[in-house]
Amino acid sequence: MKSHDLIIVGAGLSGMRAALEGVKAGIDVAVVTKVHPLRSHSCAAQGGINAAINPNDDWRVHAYDTVKGSDFIGDEDAIDLMCEEAPIIIHEMDQMGTPFSRNDNGDIAQRPFGGASFDRTCYAADRTGQVLLHTLWERLVHSGTHVYEECHVFKLVLSADGHVAGLVVYDIKTGELFTLRGKAVLLATGGYGRVFLSSTNATTNTGDGMAYAMRAGAPLADMEFVQFHPTGLRTSGILVTEGARGEGGYLINAEGERFMGRYAPKKWELASRDVVSRAEQTEILEGRGENGAIFLDLRHLGRDKIIDRLPQIRILAMDLEGVDPIDAPIPVRPTVHYSMGGIRTDKYGAAPVPGLFAAGEAACVSVHGANRLGGNSLLDTIVFGKITGAHASKYVKTARLHDFPADALGEVEERVRELKSRPDRGVRPAALHHEMAESMNAWCGVYREVNGIATLAGKFAGWRQDYERIHLDDKSPIFNVDLLRAIELRNLLDLGECIVKGALAREESRGAHFRIDFPNRDDANWRKHTLAFWDEAGQTIRLDFEAVRTVGNPEYAPKERTY
Ligand SMILES: Cc1cc2nc3c(=O)[nH]c(=O)nc-3n(C[C@H](O)[C@H](O)[C@H](O)COP(=O)(O)OP(=O)(O)OC[C@H]3O[C@@H](n4cnc5c(N)ncnc54)[C@H](O)[C@@H]3O)c2cc1C
Repeated sequence: MKSHDLIIVGAGLSGMRAALEGVKAGIDVAVVTKVHPLRSHSCAAQGGINAAINPNDDWRVHAYDTVKGSDFIGDEDAIDLMCEEAPIIIHEMDQMGTPFSRNDNGDIAQRPFGGASFDRTCYAADRTGQVLLHTLWERLVHSGTHVYEECHVFKLVLSADGHVAGLVVYDIKTGELFTLRGKAVLLATGGYGRVFLSSTNATTNTGDGMAYAMRAGAPLADMEFVQFHPTGLRTSGILVTEGARGEGGYLINAEGERFMGRYAPKKWELASRDVVSRAEQTEILEGRGENGAIFLDLRHLGRDKIIDRLPQIRILAMDLEGVDPIDAPIPVRPTVHYSMGGIRTDKYGAAPVPGLFAAGEAACVSVHGANRLGGNSLLDTIVFGKITGAHASKYVKTARLHDFPADALGEVEERVRELKSRPDRGVRPAALHHEMAESMNAWCGVYREVNGIATLAGKFAGWRQDYERIHLDDKSPIFNVDLLRAIELRNLLDLGECIVKGALAREESRGAHFRIDFPNRDDANWRKHTLAFWDEAGQTIRLDFEAVRTVGNPEYAPKERTY
């Protein structure tokens, strides 16, 4: 059985940044990833990464913007840490060779982003994630770190005494299952956007790590807070970066009216994402949209700026909507984009299961609270990838390998064999996924209310029964996507139920969670995190609550949030 000191699951920005800390610490670190590292969703990030690097800016102002953006439920110690570290990690990425866009004087260029009181989003045209990811990948290759590419983790395994023991992994290329032992496992598996039908996320964003961590006893925090991005393309949901509004783009309704002034009189299109998404949804619901969309108008920016700053957006709009933004507005709508919730960790990325760590979108540290600011997620991945990687590396230096249960591999092998041997009737995984994801969009979207959420909550038991009757069309060993989607579907069901239970419990409106029946924020009762636990006996989700971590800064006291 192969073993490593630290096994990192995920080769997006957080996983790769964490791995480099393992290399620095001189431990035996390995990375497992179900897609080639450069196909991780981080590569799709367009708009940029926030840091107070301008002498006229201050990390404390960035921290305040983040606390406010979180609707006063982000953990203040983690927010302070992230914002103070931000200029340092931008400098590091720059030194490593990230080709950031520059001003004429050679400084890293920065653009305005939603909810920020300073133009502090560093970027590389509209390909920021791609250039950051390639920079880290070069370093990782150079370090000689062992990467298990196109290997899908099927199970997180604990020892009999409840310590992380390792993983059961499925090699997508060969169809073989194998085990990896580790003194610690760091989950950097990204978000769960595919719980919903309309999403900007890669099809691989199925929240596997979160589901595995919960099944292993770790709580997931704040799962009801799901970010809708205001500008997903109407048909495909593929993202048009907030940078398009940062560069001066307008939102207009089907009547040609630039409507955001009615919702956010100071910041207009650059209010925070929850505010803009609700404004758009209201326009659509009140009949001022067109075929379920409103429009992003870039025409006044002019050809040169669009080609220079937003080249990828232009191509996506032309290819996927048949619209050249130089000549016509792009049809867009609110689309599921980001998971604020995730594996509950302390500010060093440790989860409350011995030997388990988490970073990036899979984790809830929590720096985003009820609403993430654009440009703060790339920052979160690199800052907490680095911090968690360093912390986990230190941990493994004094930790030992724990017993790997002898039957762990056999159980998973039997599960796969049984799935493949089912007769060709019953439920197809794709159909069940579609039903759940469509229902999530319909009843747990931008606007929520008790009847819809309760109806949705009542459906999960039936979907779990349906899941037991799924069958695979593809029985082959090599690149069996049917099998992978079936395994992932179980994770999506778990996470969907967490989101719905949290949304039903939280009887207030905060950040991305808006309850029509409780339209106000209720700090007295609800300024707290929800924690979702897996209840093995009941085969369902159980909720608990946890206080927000505060730092005693009087400026962070909750107040009305206006933009
Ligand atoms: C279209 C788009 C644009 C965005 N733009 C921005 C932006 O401009 N600025 C910003 O701040 N944020 C942006 N975000 C958010 C940000 O990009 C993500 O939150 C962040 O990149 C997530 O990084 P990560 O390292 O946590 O995970 P990811 O990059 O999602 O990587 C997850 C990794 O986990 C691996 N993995 C998952 N499950 C398994 C498994 N079971 N077995 C093995 N491996 C597994 C995958 O192979 C992958 O390597 C954007 C998001 C999207 C979807």
